[in-house]
Amino acid sequence: MELSKDTILFLGTGGARFTVAKQLLATGGAWMNLGGTQILLDPGPGSLVYAIKHNCEPPKLSAIILSHKHLDHSVDINVMIEAMTDGGWKPRGSLFAPADAFDNGAVIFPYLKGYPQKVELLEEGKQYSVGDVKFTTPVRHIHQVETYGFVFQTAGHKFSWITDTKYFDSLAGHYKAEFVIINVLSLEKRIPVDHLSLPEAELIIKEIKPKMVVLTHFGLTMWPVKPWEIEEKVSDETGVRVIAARDGMVLDLDMVNKT
Ligand SMILES: [Zn+2]
Repeated sequence: MELSKDTILFLGTGGARFTVAKQLLATGGAWMNLGGTQILLDPGPGSLVYAIKHNCEPPKLSAIILSHKHLDHSVDINVMIEAMTDGGWKPRGSLFAPADAFDNGAVIFPYLKGYPQKVELLEEGKQYSVGDVKFTTPVRHIHQVETYGFVFQTAGHKFSWITDTKYFDSLAGHYKAEFVIINVLSLEKRIPVDHLSLPEAELIIKEIKPKMVVLTHFGLTMWPVKPWEIEEKVSDETGVRVIAARDGMVLDLDMVNKT
């Protein structure tokens, strides 16, 4: 089954070391079909396997985007670059990643840099395009390595994805959209982890007031909590429709307009 237009398939909803190591939740990132343009975001451990299981076709990818080089986001990036380009025989697609994914301690092998048709470095405040899809990286996040979130604009939809970051005051202001995806690692605020907790996600939702929110990238404290309980708690708290992503969930962006 091919993904229909304007959908996001969550190849994984887990994050951080223990969830990853035990594969309590899958960690393959997200496969997006935005008006026919297919983009893979953050191919973590198992991305290729989960993608194939879900009948995704890597040679149909127009781009692979890496928010940052932590392992739970990047382990499969090399194999996905090969899969996108038929092992390098057919230069194809674009690769977007922060500079430190290529530098000292690179997670992207140098020999693969020539495989995509285009390689672009992500930087703060820039705009990029893939086919008819445009996206921006409005602000550098507070995280141990160079990290960006995204505001995507397609023909019919605008949505943002707040990837890994420590909470900061101006964060929400950069990601205003009707639909927002937030990486939420922990149930409670845990200092000094450079990740968002559920109470901090609630602050962001209250400030942005989107029509719909999806929470994902769950760590060890989120994993035992039933997703519908998280949805109910955050929806009650914020008055916004909230979905806690499940592994393999396909989200239709048109749902936002029906909310
Ligand atoms: Zn991270």
